[in-house]
Amino acid sequence: MIELHCHTTCSDGTLTPTELVEAAIKAGVSALAITDHDTLSGWNEAIAAAASHQLEIVPGVELSTVHNGRSLHILGFYPNADQLRNPLSERLEGRKRRARQIIAKLAALGYPITLPELGEGMAPGRPHLARALVKAGYCQSTREAFDCLLGDDQPACVDYEKFSITEGVSLLLECGAVPVWAHPYLFRGGEVEEVLKELVDAGVMGIEAYHPGHTPKEVRHLEALCHQYGLLMTGGSDYHGPSPEGQPPTTSKLNMMNLPLSLLEPIKQAAYSLRS
Ligand code: AMP
Ligand code: FE
Ligand code: FE
Ligand code: ZN
Repeated sequence: MIELHCHTTCSDGTLTPTELVEAAIKAGVSALAITDHDTLSGWNEAIAAAASHQLEIVPGVELSTVHNGRSLHILGFYPNADQLRNPLSERLEGRKRRARQIIAKLAALGYPITLPELGEGMAPGRPHLARALVKAGYCQSTREAFDCLLGDDQPACVDYEKFSITEGVSLLLECGAVPVWAHPYLFRGGEVEEVLKELVDAGVMGIEAYHPGHTPKEVRHLEALCHQYGLLMTGGSDYHGPSPEGQPPTTSKLNMMNLPLSLLEPIKQAAYSLRS
């Protein structure tokens, strides 16, 4: 079974890469992608932790872009780390600036908090701020923090710094990564069919059809779109750790999508074709 979408403490997950690897082995995963938001920092620890086990680590990233004024996430599989690291560090700096802007908004609203300590190469996100709001006693749960303050249309939300889907897809392709539209039905800025056309024009190579936020009907529709456009199909639980904190709308469990290893081979071949 494979898991092609997971987060660690290098972005907004709650398990370290080592803990995630251990949990994945227990859950019967045989290939695990590390796809932190805008950072590659979790790869090495995960690869080291998996070395003596029958677990393959798939190096990945989840890039944050803005489309029609809404955040749109693009997964990239097998990027060349040396090429991607510098451009990503600009994205990380943008995330840090954005976190400071959100903190300023929260203070103005009467909820002063400080940004939790994050190490070098770690990507701050709204879940970190949601947890800080809970810790400070302003909110009962991270869900409440999103519902009242941090969610997309809530008063303390700040968009990512400008970075278009075209820029995101091009960057991934330049760095040898296979670009895949993450969880299309969680996107709030347009119809899936319309946005997909734009992404295909930009060079996207796959769709994350299997995601806990998609209904069975939506999954079937995404499978049909993959056939129509000749796109790769990927999937994963978008696992952020065992607690429900900082999770996307549907609570996820490792390996809950029960995806076969056969999904991985075409992605590997696509990555290989980008390099040759
Ligand atoms: P950011 O990239 O900083 O905008 O944060 C987005 C992340 O916040 C997503 O990847 C999820 O992990 C989490 N998230 C988004 N919406 C919610 C929500 N309504 N409740 C809890 N967590 C959420
Ligand atoms: Fe996340
Ligand atoms: Fe996402
Ligand atoms: Zn994710």
